[in-house]
Amino acid sequence: MTFEGFQTLAIHAGQEADAETGAVVVPIYATSTYAQDGVGALRAGYEYSRTANPTRKALEECLAALESGTRGLAFASGMAAEDTLLRTIAKPGDHVIIPGDAYGGTFRLFSQVLEPWGVRWDAVPQTDPDAVRAAMRPETVAVWAESPTNPLLNVTDIEALAGVAHDGGALLVVDNTFASPYLQQPIHLGADVVVHSTTKYIGGHSDVVGGAVVVADAELGERIAFHQNTMGAIAGPFDAWLTLRGVRTLGVRMDRHCQNAERLAAELVRHPGVGQVYYPGLPDHPQHKVAERQMRAFGGMVAFRPHGGEEAALRVCGRTRVFTLGESLGGVESLIEHPGRMTHASAAGSPLEVPADLVRISVGIESADDLVADLVQALEE
Ligand SMILES: *Cc1c(COP(=O)(O)O)cnc(C)c1O
Repeated sequence: MTFEGFQTLAIHAGQEADAETGAVVVPIYATSTYAQDGVGALRAGYEYSRTANPTRKALEECLAALESGTRGLAFASGMAAEDTLLRTIAKPGDHVIIPGDAYGGTFRLFSQVLEPWGVRWDAVPQTDPDAVRAAMRPETVAVWAESPTNPLLNVTDIEALAGVAHDGGALLVVDNTFASPYLQQPIHLGADVVVHSTTKYIGGHSDVVGGAVVVADAELGERIAFHQNTMGAIAGPFDAWLTLRGVRTLGVRMDRHCQNAERLAAELVRHPGVGQVYYPGLPDHPQHKVAERQMRAFGGMVAFRPHGGEEAALRVCGRTRVFTLGESLGGVESLIEHPGRMTHASAAGSPLEVPADLVRISVGIESADDLVADLVQALEE
């Protein structure tokens, strides 16, 4: 794994000072079209902003560098990125394997949008690569993985899964939203495609929705770019600029997210009012060894089950003062939520249903002592 220079890339990749003015920060190119110096004589390759825009291009180059891919593509949201990618690599009759505990939006995209169009899928627990191998079919074009998963923080062995996918002639796609490229680089572990909701850690400030795809293979990158331009779910220049503004501090923020989350997970384990704690950094996490091997640190997401059932979980969610009650994750501010009634409410009755007493926290970068004190007071009887 080559993690060297991550912060240098985050600040400089795709972001040379402006040739004309010397502006250190890539400007917001709020333009739909570009003057041509004669019919078809493009000044810098730009023709129309759905096809390419300099602010978006800066973000795309930066993300490609951070994921060690050959091409990055930025979209209007994580779901737009997923949709464009899937309509590039899968056609009616094809089959895709998704995680048994896939992100709810991904599950909905497969079950309610792609399936009616003829794309087939199976949800398989991916902590067991042999289960994925058994589910492979001749029509399987991709294995879609997430690690760590939401909200139970299961960890998938990406290298093992790449072997399974490639043995079956399929691509391995990894949704790297929870880890971010700072903690985990799936392409180095054998993945072909990385997907992000840049809304989360990459943007990092809860002020913009966006998505990205990064690929290892340039030819596949060309095909996705064709679909990006044809379908048009691009990141606009303002959104691309905000995301780029966020990504410049990704490594620094992630260090603090991880440090705070490790501290909170340890405090929760010790707390008499808490039962199970889910965090890949805990030595008794079932895939702790895999996480240690493929991640730089264990991330900023923690889940736990307070004693006292759903009522207790709801009480904790309603009592915090530093943690804000809300969906989403990955911003500088700490968030708390009840997956059963919020992010995962639509999974009720399905195999993706989560325990009713589960609480999920997105640990922000506030002072750790304040976060600990806040959770402790919220857990008081
Ligand atoms: C949020 C999220 C998405 C969807 O991204 P949007 O930007 O909300 O469209 C996809 N995967 C994971 C793991 C997410 O957390």
